[in-house]
Amino acid sequence: MDVTIFGSGYVGLVTGACLAEVGNNVLCVDVNAEKIDMLNAGAVPIFEPGLEDMIRRNTQAGRLAFSTDLAKGVAHGLFQFIAVGTPPDEDGSADLKHVLSVATTIGECMETYRIVVDKSTVPVGTADRVAERIREAQAARGVNIELDVVSNPEFLKEGAAIEDFMRPDRVIVGTDNPRTGELLRALYAPFNRSHDRLMVMDVRSAELTKYAANAILATKISFMNELSNIAEAVGADIEQVRVGIGSDPRIGYQFIYPGCGYGGSCFPKDVRALERTATAVGYSAELLQAVEAVNFRQKDLLFRKISDYFGGALEGKVVALWGLAFKPNTDDMREASSRRLMEQLWEAGASVRAFDPVAMGETRRIYGERSDLTLTDDLLTALEGADALAILTEWTQFRSPDFDAVRQRLRHPVVFDGRNILDHSQVTAAGMTYVSIGRSPMP
Ligand code: NAD
Repeated sequence: MDVTIFGSGYVGLVTGACLAEVGNNVLCVDVNAEKIDMLNAGAVPIFEPGLEDMIRRNTQAGRLAFSTDLAKGVAHGLFQFIAVGTPPDEDGSADLKHVLSVATTIGECMETYRIVVDKSTVPVGTADRVAERIREAQAARGVNIELDVVSNPEFLKEGAAIEDFMRPDRVIVGTDNPRTGELLRALYAPFNRSHDRLMVMDVRSAELTKYAANAILATKISFMNELSNIAEAVGADIEQVRVGIGSDPRIGYQFIYPGCGYGGSCFPKDVRALERTATAVGYSAELLQAVEAVNFRQKDLLFRKISDYFGGALEGKVVALWGLAFKPNTDDMREASSRRLMEQLWEAGASVRAFDPVAMGETRRIYGERSDLTLTDDLLTALEGADALAILTEWTQFRSPDFDAVRQRLRHPVVFDGRNILDHSQVTAAGMTYVSIGRSPMP
């Protein structure tokens, strides 16, 4: 089938590559010419395991192409996927300007029936707005061509995106038109083989399902972070509490890790946007407000712990950071906890030496050259001349370092573990103080 994907970011590229992989003829379109030039030159602008190989394979096979030509995109696919960004507006609600701009383009250029598929995370009611925008653009040129707008939210996780797309837990299709539902079922058939994972529902429920999924995951994290602060204050160990509660199958072990706050391109903005949606219809979503407030506070926690350790005297101190990405296996730093910490340290007059296995290029892109930020080639070099170590991302390679080598390089023997990934007995056996989340400091 012929498929067009508007937006060549994390979601657009993975969707495009995976749909091409199973034999579709895919054209990915983006307004960012630099990105498209890179892709046409065989480079992939983001880090996502397996993506580069899959893109290369499918471009070579002639099933995947990239263009900045929006009209060509509209002419190409029966399916017109919208996978553009929906960043937060000033008040936290989802900014739909990119989504609606694609809708206008489709309305201006379509010559025949099109199925427009909203893959971006968009508030309830957006499919209606997209359809309206397309019809307006059609009316402006005096045509009235049939179309359907479907909600098909994406649930992939960065770092495991290919696997998630190829073997999804579920594919949600929101449509009021059974024929369109069947066409989407045919498109997704190769990903739906062992048992039926495709759920057809009404458009608004599909749109809300995406926000509901992200909001409940964010709630689990904020709940554990709230609990970790209580545990620390009362002298309990949140890690033992975590193991104790996760054994109940109604609770489970997934997504109950305490840490220094959630980030990324989805949870923060989606919790905020859902809260704004509720407010707009006159409902005060107090749980969602609390989830966000707890996360905001949690992102300050490591800075407070570091500052307390040094008696507030951070001027001239050097802090080594392991991990810059908002989570492992991605280079995405949108709303990453590392950013808040670095900015607070700089504000306090400290400087940062940092290492991340893949997010250094992204860090350079965001912060440019600055005298208070040194990016190093490996994790031990980051420690040279540093007063303390802080761990921000739970990369596997940070879990069991040579603790004696860490101790030898640090000016002050202290590790602030924002993800509770180290074995505290090993840290303390090497003669360092271990400060983690939800547990008293261990000398
Ligand atoms: P992204 O910022 O990585 O990519 C968006 C791309 O859209 C950019 O390359 C941008 O240049 C392009 N774009 C903007 N306007 C355009 C236009 N008019 N025509 C064509 N291209 C245009 O975003 P992303 O992380 O891929 O997220 C896309 C959507 O998917 C968002 O709504 C997001 O919430 C949702 N989502 C993201 C993830 C994730 O893990 N990143 C997971 C599920 C859902």
